[in-house]
Amino acid sequence: MSRVLILHTGGTLGMTGEPLVPDAFANALDEAVPELNELAQLETRILFNLDSSDVGPEHWTRLAHEIYEARHDYDGVVIVHGTDTMAYTASALSFALRDLARPVILTGAQRPLAAHRTDARRNLVDAVELATRGVEGVGLCFDGLLLRGVRATKSNVQDYRAFDSPGTAPLARLGVDVVIDEMAQRSTGRCVFEPDFDPSVLVVRVAPGMQAGLIERLAGQSEQFGGLVLAAYGLGTTPTRGPDIPSAVRTVVDAGIDVLVVTQSAGRIDLDKYENSRALRDAGAIDGGEMTVEAGTTKLMHALANVADRGQRREYLLENVVGEREG
Ligand code: ASP
Repeated sequence: MSRVLILHTGGTLGMTGEPLVPDAFANALDEAVPELNELAQLETRILFNLDSSDVGPEHWTRLAHEIYEARHDYDGVVIVHGTDTMAYTASALSFALRDLARPVILTGAQRPLAAHRTDARRNLVDAVELATRGVEGVGLCFDGLLLRGVRATKSNVQDYRAFDSPGTAPLARLGVDVVIDEMAQRSTGRCVFEPDFDPSVLVVRVAPGMQAGLIERLAGQSEQFGGLVLAAYGLGTTPTRGPDIPSAVRTVVDAGIDVLVVTQSAGRIDLDKYENSRALRDAGAIDGGEMTVEAGTTKLMHALANVADRGQRREYLLENVVGEREG
């Protein structure tokens, strides 16, 4: 029988009360869902028990260590996590644990395990099932889909279909049968373990009328800020008349801050396409490809912590490291 490690970190799945708060209920996950024991030999550890809005870089590092150290003792790992930042944690772990050659499956629920009509039971069972199936790398299992962790985004707060992976197909579908795409098994088997993140990154979503001076001001704070993720319009355009965002970006880049451009829409950045996107390219901003805000933010934090040389950091950000930029 496969051995699966369940790491509990919090989230609605194990919450009770009104307002919902994390509860010790998670202690008894496999007692509450006994069929889990038919799928695998389980060990459950409560790493922390938080609403995921309180989960951040230090927790990603802790999770990465826990998983790396357990990799020879288990066939797979399931992480129970709140949905609000699950896609950030999934992206962060994708960079921290590359080619682990083990399934690491994040899951959670829109309704607590103790509530009627809960989606927690199905998501847990699906996640444990996938953790026994040899799918490679970090995935997010929710509502019958396995999504590539680094491409996932929370797209809905009301529906049980809470996550999407824009521009890339699910790695597995769990319906009557479990259908796993061959893309889910492409490990080289040489694990790269880089668990650290530098949180000195600001995320700014471009909006009409936005004051370029607000971005420019970051240049004077370059000791606190290592990076800026700019969520631009469409293929990577920003206002250039009146507020001149590209000029502000130039000032920030010249001050030593890395600027990574992602799109507010689903799709990919192409800074060559428009005059208003070339301006960002010429200002020294880095094209984020198909990266979601979650992937772009965690990758920039990862790059700042692990790649000291600025030129090499730019190359790392432009490289398709774990399928975050394309594919
Ligand atoms: N606020 C909760 C969390 O992210 C939401 C959830 O788990 O669905 O922890």
